[in-house]
Amino acid sequence: MPKYEGYKLAKKYLYFMKNVDYLIVGFGIAGLCFAETLRQNNKSFVVISDLHNGATAASGGVLNPTVLKRFTAAWKAEEFQKEAIPFYKEMARYLQSNVISEMKIARILNSVEEQNDWSVASEKIGLRSFLSPDIITSYNTCVKAPFKLGIVKAGYQLKPAALLFSYSKKLKEEEKFDESQFEYDQLNIKGSSVVYKQWSAKQIVFAEGSKVVENPFYPYQAPFTNKSVLVGNKGDYVIIKAPELKVNSILKGGMMLIPMGDDLYKIGATYDRHNYDATPSLEKREEIILKLNTMISCAYEVVDQVAGVRPTIKDRRPLVGVLKDNPYIAFLNGLGTRGLSMAPLLSSWLFQQLENSTAVPGAIDVNRFLK
Ligand SMILES: Cc1cc2nc3c(=O)[nH]c(=O)nc-3n(C[C@H](O)[C@H](O)[C@H](O)COP(=O)(O)OP(=O)(O)OC[C@H]3O[C@@H](n4cnc5c(N)ncnc54)[C@H](O)[C@@H]3O)c2cc1C
Repeated sequence: MPKYEGYKLAKKYLYFMKNVDYLIVGFGIAGLCFAETLRQNNKSFVVISDLHNGATAASGGVLNPTVLKRFTAAWKAEEFQKEAIPFYKEMARYLQSNVISEMKIARILNSVEEQNDWSVASEKIGLRSFLSPDIITSYNTCVKAPFKLGIVKAGYQLKPAALLFSYSKKLKEEEKFDESQFEYDQLNIKGSSVVYKQWSAKQIVFAEGSKVVENPFYPYQAPFTNKSVLVGNKGDYVIIKAPELKVNSILKGGMMLIPMGDDLYKIGATYDRHNYDATPSLEKREEIILKLNTMISCAYEVVDQVAGVRPTIKDRRPLVGVLKDNPYIAFLNGLGTRGLSMAPLLSSWLFQQLENSTAVPGAIDVNRFLK
């Protein structure tokens, strides 16, 4: 924006300017967890975002510290889990809403060899606290599991849509939430503050998920080429109603089957790299149904389909921290396939950098791809 235009805008809002510590753009799990981190540390903020359009609203809500394809632990699983569970429990208390619950994850084993691999994995350091060594029989006649089930005992389920709804409602009541599209051309960095419409802050944190590619301050443009740093990874879920199924843990076979209550289950999700379009796909629906039919045998009805775009980075690590050439701008992005588990600790790392100049781990530093 030309300097004079910026001056005119600042003048327009001068009389009702509000000072806060932080502006947060985007309210998926990244923006939400950063807002909660600020609340817990008595910092003032305002969030500017649309709602219900992102990856968080579409996600399955599973907090799973393991990779059930290969029976390994996820990257820094223990660290992320240790921060996430008490963080979300505190949030549930604050919101007085049952947004997190403990839930076992049952992996359908496909062969005797997989049974052995499971037993070996459950003994390993780093997995022992997550995997139960026992291999159990499913007595649910609807579940096809002739080679039995391995149990992840440290699984949790979040209710992402309920969490977004109750947290944003609370923020709106406190006049800390502006439900709108962020207008990048109205952002003005002057002196030692960031000015946007009627707000003035010491820092802006962008947490826009895969839509960050539309942000002119994002340092890695060229979103739709092979050189792109952020790779949109679309996922679809089909929602079924299956009154006879009566499964009350998360079931992992060819797809994940996630109980939602009232005989509804979310089935998915698919992976479609280099796709930034969140429209549900008929092709993916068929893929999900084919895999679901290998997992269950009872009748069901497809009642809905949702999709979202995971903000995945090309080296599969988050993208967090202050821009080295602009100390007023920070990013909290790249949460990828396990954003719900990672968001609380990533928010804490970013907060420590912004408040105490503690560097974020190099593996997630937003500047790592800059020459
Ligand atoms: C189908 C699917 C299933 C998943 N399942 C799981 C799971 O079970 N467990 C897990 O841990 N992770 C899961 N994930 C990954 C997880 O959902 C993501 O890592 C995480 O939600 C990303 O959060 P985010 O806040 O970065 O982005 P988002 O959730 O996309 O939030 C960003 C928000 O900012 C808004 N925004 C962006 N730009 C602007 C702007 N200019 N103005 C206003 N608003 C703006 C967007 O519209 C959006 O509402 C899943 C993802 C998908 C797609």
